[in-house]
Amino acid sequence: MPRESKKSKVARVTEFCHRMDALYGEEPSALDWHSPFELVIAVLLSAQTTDAAVNAVTPELFRRWGTPALMAEADAAEVADVIHRLGFFRMKAQHCVGCGQMIMSDFGGEVPRTMAELVRLPGVGRKTANIVLNKAFGIVEGIAVDTHVFRIAQRMGLTRATTPLAAEKDLLAVIPQELWEGVNSQWIRFGRATCTARVAHCDECPCADLCPRRPVRHGAGKGSVKKR
Ligand code: SF4
Repeated sequence: MPRESKKSKVARVTEFCHRMDALYGEEPSALDWHSPFELVIAVLLSAQTTDAAVNAVTPELFRRWGTPALMAEADAAEVADVIHRLGFFRMKAQHCVGCGQMIMSDFGGEVPRTMAELVRLPGVGRKTANIVLNKAFGIVEGIAVDTHVFRIAQRMGLTRATTPLAAEKDLLAVIPQELWEGVNSQWIRFGRATCTARVAHCDECPCADLCPRRPVRHGAGKGSVKKR
């Protein structure tokens, strides 16, 4: 199969993003937070768990340690007690306290507003930083590539990367910047509804004509749908 030109890939993914936008539009964050610091902590806690599980523990967590100054002074074991229902709670508790401490020591008590600074915080990678920049500050510096975005990008033939970090670079190279903002939340919903991890429902996909995995029909007979 001939290699696809960048121009064709850009056109294809641009149309895909427009259709995702028409389908899903803007959605408020499913995590409960009231300040940039609370958002950092909530996103950090959401790794390997559901947003609902995070929302169940954060009211008590933020009541006790809702600012960087308070979290910096917290005992990680006490924080772990409050979040013990979440996976990796001990490590996450250490990251929470570490974030509070670094924000106090290196950033004057304010959550930083750049990617380079945010990824210095314990437990904060590019995915978390992208979400914080976008949701808390309205800054779009990249695309948060989670498991759904990663899978869809691979199936759509937009990346051959083997890590989300490398896949983000490929996506940034072909998706126009003004469309970056919607990718994470819209593709996640699409990944849960249609292009799911277990099976891609290509026959019901509204973007099948844009995807290299679309079903190809041979002849007019029933049962002749093949994947390519
Ligand atoms: S055609 Fe299939 S693989 Fe491609 S985006 Fe749609 S559901 Fe996913």
